Amino acid sequence: MITTPDPKGRLRRALRSLEGLSVGDAFGDRFFTSPHVVEQLIEQRALPAGLWPITDDTVMALSIVDVLAGQGAIECDLLAALFGARYRLDPARGYGGTAHGILTRIASGEPWAEVAGEVFGGTGSMGNGGAMRAAPIGGYFFDDFYQAADAACQSASVTHAHPDGQAGAIAVAVAAAWVASGGTQPAEMFAAVLDHTPDGETRAVIEQAARLPLSYDVRTAVSALGNGTRVISQDTVPFSLWCAARHLGDYEEALWTTVSGLGDRDTTCAIVGGIVALGAGAEIPPAWLASREPLEAMALALLTGH
Ligand SMILES: [Mg+2]
Repeated sequence: MITTPDPKGRLRRALRSLEGLSVGDAFGDRFFTSPHVVEQLIEQRALPAGLWPITDDTVMALSIVDVLAGQGAIECDLLAALFGARYRLDPARGYGGTAHGILTRIASGEPWAEVAGEVFGGTGSMGNGGAMRAAPIGGYFFDDFYQAADAACQSASVTHAHPDGQAGAIAVAVAAAWVASGGTQPAEMFAAVLDHTPDGETRAVIEQAARLPLSYDVRTAVSALGNGTRVISQDTVPFSLWCAARHLGDYEEALWTTVSGLGDRDTTCAIVGGIVALGAGAEIPPAWLASREPLEAMALALLTGH
């Protein structure tokens, strides 16, 4: 990785968020198995056995962190090139159907803005893919929520032209920035997020999440906010923010609550892990880190120089 100087500790925080995101992604993905096994694991707080492979959430977040490390900003052309290169390196990382189409075309050199704008009959994607990879941006711009929101919007636009696909990324990045800047009160997290998230369905459901008591059962939250089953920003980001707000400062509990909501569990856990890991005291348990597939598997020769 080629990096710029890091006087403010921005990159350190982005990498911390990436650890939380990747462990969450890999952890959550292990729960796509028989409902009986899932129920048992959650009830007993038992870690899934074996190595936990990372999925598209982590792979795309790696490209975001590479761009931030090298440029100190989101440069969309470079980000698109890295998304395409890593997709080519290993397309079997659980990308969604639309993502396969978009990334195949980007990897073959088509302009990302054209490709992203053409899907879903020209409305662009409102999928949760922009949000799933956005938390490290908040870690990086922890000292400037406006910059975090702007960079998150740009990073999403490479694949998600629909405003809701971008709003989800903004909301997640601002939540992460708020945690990284030392925030501890859940109501303040929602206030910061709502200050920066543009109008639309994602924002409307985040408003509901902000009003939903954190003492409620996770099943109640799922029925009110969704759990990512529709794989769109609107039904993924509000629930993830609610889970993160409920367990600020406790990485492990945050992830158990999130995975117990089922739904798009690798992505909800990636979002929550990327946010909560930035908080003071929210240590990622060493056993969890050791279970996650090493990230080197998706390193790019063009960045490492090998
Ligand atoms: Mg995934």
